[in-house]
Amino acid sequence: MKKIIFLLIDSFMPTILEDCVRHRTVPGLKFLMDRGRYWANCATVFPTMTASVDSSLVTGTYPDVHRIPGLIWYDPEQQEIVNYINGWNCVRKLGLGKCAKHVLYNLNEKHLSAHVTTVFEELSRRGKTSASINAIVHRSVKRHMIKLPALMNMMSGLQFRKSSISGPETMTLGSLVQSDILQDIPRPMQGYEEMCGINDDFAKHATKILIQSEKQPDFTLVYFPDNDHEMHKKNPAHAEEALIRVDQHIQDILYAFGSWEEAVKQCIFIVTGDHGQTRIGNEERFNIDLDRLLESFRVLQLGEKIGRHDVVVCNNERMAYLYPLQADIQPKLIEQLLSEPRIDIIAWKEQREVAVREGGSGRKMYFRRNGPFTDIYGSEWTVVGEESVLDLKIKEGIIHYGDYPDALARLYGALYSQDIPMIAITARPRYEFKSRYFPMHMNGGSHGSLHKYDSIIPLIVTGTDHAVQEPPRLVDLKQFILELCDKESNC
Ligand SMILES: [Zn+2]
Repeated sequence: MKKIIFLLIDSFMPTILEDCVRHRTVPGLKFLMDRGRYWANCATVFPTMTASVDSSLVTGTYPDVHRIPGLIWYDPEQQEIVNYINGWNCVRKLGLGKCAKHVLYNLNEKHLSAHVTTVFEELSRRGKTSASINAIVHRSVKRHMIKLPALMNMMSGLQFRKSSISGPETMTLGSLVQSDILQDIPRPMQGYEEMCGINDDFAKHATKILIQSEKQPDFTLVYFPDNDHEMHKKNPAHAEEALIRVDQHIQDILYAFGSWEEAVKQCIFIVTGDHGQTRIGNEERFNIDLDRLLESFRVLQLGEKIGRHDVVVCNNERMAYLYPLQADIQPKLIEQLLSEPRIDIIAWKEQREVAVREGGSGRKMYFRRNGPFTDIYGSEWTVVGEESVLDLKIKEGIIHYGDYPDALARLYGALYSQDIPMIAITARPRYEFKSRYFPMHMNGGSHGSLHKYDSIIPLIVTGTDHAVQEPPRLVDLKQFILELCDKESNC
């Protein structure tokens, strides 16, 4: 029975992978590509932010089903902005305790819909074991104690003392959650993230220990975050060094089997990313200042309590959700957004439809589920208006996607992730949304949008001939993993 190792690399992009392969600088990834199959056109979900994407990967559903709208979103029941941690300035404004509670506890225990199952839960039902190494979405059958470092414990109001979260049989969230078998992982004590062990080095060590312990679970999901951090700082055109470092970790994991050949003989390897990144221009005008654009509205500011506000803005880098709080405010907001030509797409719900307009030109189209057209993924749609707004090409009843891969299901999934009025906006390539306290990436990289730069990820599958649904999508990988496990000979 072959075990599965799933390597999830944050901000893994096919263009950078292919440059590195050409330069012969990523021998580990090249080996897995040569021994297996490679796709350069895997589509991820929208918003292209780790929290919503990982929820889709692990549940095999879009946000309208798993109910995690993005990294930053507004919770109308609690009347608060949910932030799964996107930089210290925001966290300070919202409170470390609240943000830590959202990412460590609420994401898996409360926000992720109880009506979906995770890949870990499904494997457990089938009598298979699994491990989650530093992945942020990990809900499953076993409780794991949270152990915060003393300072963080105090700063977060001691709320995690004696708290536990659910996960598969084996899991780590850096040093915050560590299964017994993974207690002895060396970690450099510098910087906050390094201290907590949410980094590639920790993930590599944990994976090697599992392989060498002879207790490697049937399925292991390993999350590598460092590539994302480096790509935000440098721009994606200069991000090869970051992927070279990831490749060195992958080589170490392959060596843990004795030889690379032995690794692919014993295991199925699946390697993919969560989203891409887009290069951001190196001048102020490449920041679309939402506070300024919406200055005629009463916008809820971070740290404020909801009162007589018009709108809540949740900035997800190259996309944002706007939540109108008053009945008549939505049309006025849309009118104001349309006046900004640096905004690419403005979309909102209308009955069971989605209305889409382009910033500046105001060109419009509508779409809804079911109808005369079928897209290349087999979903049926009705599309009315100028389909070029989403760069769709409809030929003989088939919808083909251009610059916005899987645009209809992804946009629908985001807008129906909550049952309240919400507007989704995206920035054109080279631009990013600016909000007070939020991190900016001028001359660096950023993501969040529907555009292919943020949305296309590589996919490598090695060690099995089992058919992958094509064109590949991240949302279909859970099903692929379960099929591998159901085929007794493959897992
Ligand atoms: Zn990122």
